[in-house]
Amino acid sequence: MSRTNVPIATRRKSRQIMVGNVAVGGDAPVTVQSMTTTKTADVEGTLAQIYALAGAGADIVRCTCNEPEAAEGLARIVPRSPLPLVADIHFHHEMALAALEAGVACLRLNPGNLRKPEEIRLVASEARDRGVPIRIGVNAGSLHPEIYRRHGGATPEALVESALRELDYFAEVGFEDVKISVKASNVALMISSYRLLAEAVDHPLHLGVTEAGPPPGGLVKATAGIAALLAEGIGDTIRYSLTADPVEEARAGRQLLEALGLRERKGLDLIACPSCGRAEIDVIAVANAAQQALQKMDLPIQVAVMGCVVNGPGEAREADLGIAAGKHRGHLFIRGKIVRVVPEADMVQALVTEAEKIMEEGVEARLAAAEQGAEEAAAADRAELMSSKRPDVNASEQRITSIRRRLDTGPAGP
Ligand code: SF4
Repeated sequence: MSRTNVPIATRRKSRQIMVGNVAVGGDAPVTVQSMTTTKTADVEGTLAQIYALAGAGADIVRCTCNEPEAAEGLARIVPRSPLPLVADIHFHHEMALAALEAGVACLRLNPGNLRKPEEIRLVASEARDRGVPIRIGVNAGSLHPEIYRRHGGATPEALVESALRELDYFAEVGFEDVKISVKASNVALMISSYRLLAEAVDHPLHLGVTEAGPPPGGLVKATAGIAALLAEGIGDTIRYSLTADPVEEARAGRQLLEALGLRERKGLDLIACPSCGRAEIDVIAVANAAQQALQKMDLPIQVAVMGCVVNGPGEAREADLGIAAGKHRGHLFIRGKIVRVVPEADMVQALVTEAEKIMEEGVEARLAAAEQGAEEAAAADRAELMSSKRPDVNASEQRITSIRRRLDTGPAGP
């Protein structure tokens, strides 16, 4: 329901591939990925997590395929999964072949630990014959040892060379249905590597800061890297690698894309003022209560919680709906216009009720249904707050007299 739509960047032109029924690259929306943490052999547990990830905003899900039982699990998960599946492959090319046999929509190969050219070509040929794309997943922490040595470490050039070498092996068997990632846990290295890669190829890019760690630090690092690149138009699909429930990864990815205007809002966007000396309520407590109450409803709506009636409605006039706290009363507003004044204790419930009505009836209808006299009652509250005086600990009048004397301006005070 957001009304301001400023494009964040001109998107880098990339070719498009299909991961199952999800387009990646070209003019397709930037997609969100995450990875299951269950044993892939645990079919029911893995499916439950995939459904949770779909609900949190993931478009594509990756599962490890590290053992024969995992490949068999994938064969059972694929037909029941709501999202296309990517099989994550390290070390063993035969697990890539088994995952293809299981019917996955994409493979991820790590060139750092799956190094034999003949095995890489074999996997690429089989993927080509089945029409299945591959992500070349270069990782600074597991770079090909020879490339690492030659570059004197995991440099952007080293990461990109690893990706290009893999592309060459694929090209030898006529396979180019590829997306690429060059992840690092160091944000500056990650950003530089993707910039370099974006210049070198036109394949879609999968962005991520690897091993970002637990929130909130992990969220900050991942957002710094991914958002910096998206703001340059680089990136076609993203993954937050958090040490947390993967649902948090999917939610963060989705929220980032919505915040950058790269995806339509799917869920709640709660904005709240940081609070200051003017606040008439505990903004943090009310914002948390509103978040809890509204999040359950999963409405694509922006809601504001503001600490004071003097600045709140104006500062949050872009929000679909909001509440600003006055002295013991809350001013409920829609797009900056006061529609009702409610007792302080009812503020959160008033938001919930109005959010439901906005979703049912639309913003214009709810603006038209504004309570008679609400604006006047709110104006009276504001005026009272503005005029309320506290003890003059600064001895203001005496000071003003001194200022006027010093500047020789106007009457010398009362
Ligand atoms: S809305 Fe009011 S309380 Fe909140 S930061 Fe702005 S001035 Fe302070």
